[in-house]
Amino acid sequence: MPELPEVETVRRRLAPALEGRSFERVEITDPRVTRPLDPQDVARELEGERVQAVDRRGKYLIVRFESGRALLIHLRMTGSLRHGNGGELGEDPHRRAVVTLDDGSDVSYRDVRRFGTWLLLEPSETDGYVDARVGREPLDDAYRAKHLAERLERRRAPIKAALLDQRTVAGVGNIYADEALWRAKVHPLAPANELSPDEVKAVHKGVRESLRAGVRRQGSTLRDYQLPDGSSGRAQERFKVYGRAGRPCERCGTPIDKIRAAGRGTWYCPSCQVLRSGGGYAATSSSSRPSRSRRQSSV
Ligand SMILES: [Zn+2]
Repeated sequence: MPELPEVETVRRRLAPALEGRSFERVEITDPRVTRPLDPQDVARELEGERVQAVDRRGKYLIVRFESGRALLIHLRMTGSLRHGNGGELGEDPHRRAVVTLDDGSDVSYRDVRRFGTWLLLEPSETDGYVDARVGREPLDDAYRAKHLAERLERRRAPIKAALLDQRTVAGVGNIYADEALWRAKVHPLAPANELSPDEVKAVHKGVRESLRAGVRRQGSTLRDYQLPDGSSGRAQERFKVYGRAGRPCERCGTPIDKIRAAGRGTWYCPSCQVLRSGGGYAATSSSSRPSRSRRQSSV
């Protein structure tokens, strides 16, 4: 599933192709893309809109129009976007939508598993919609360890589950959560609210470093993710733990282990990331009344 580095890579590639261009013709051929709205209605609404900017929040790609409206694209599991000259893209049974721009080029949307969504929002709606669903941007200069600490202090869920909740921090999914926790030397099942201040700092740093590494290598292509020109990301070549069960930890040589955490396959180093027993994480959690872990949001 595309996470922050993959969506950011797509944004950087698409922005120069889209900014200043108008959506001349829009075809949405799969009703699941826009449901519950009629895809024809959404397509008609999009025609004539001129792109002002292509932004990103968490895993949302945000196409902002000069009218003030915005198209929110969420790639979910297998969505991807391609850009090419008109007619150049060829046939594709998994294509769900095509936007023809006023320079004659096409942006096509393919999605094998069909969980991805396109949502057109009116000018006043966009920021509220996104802010209700995703937390702070981890790669912003202003993102500090204290912001992460505030989000973890009442969470009894395992740190891995807390990181997958998009309201904790925007854009982290299964891959970069594991990579971040390995960098931080924190066990994925450690209760979020029992991490010491130093451990929270390490997780904060680990999240930023693993996401930056992903962006630098233009995301990770495990199956479906591709850049808008059809090429692949290379972050998977440098994973520290993700998908590496049985391979030696590059820090200590111990074989990487795989467990389940937050219902997801989770990779970690059993020597570097030790789960302390008996609530030895921090003395700060006993004063706050434990709250039931809130419903997770995996947008
Ligand atoms: Zn290790």
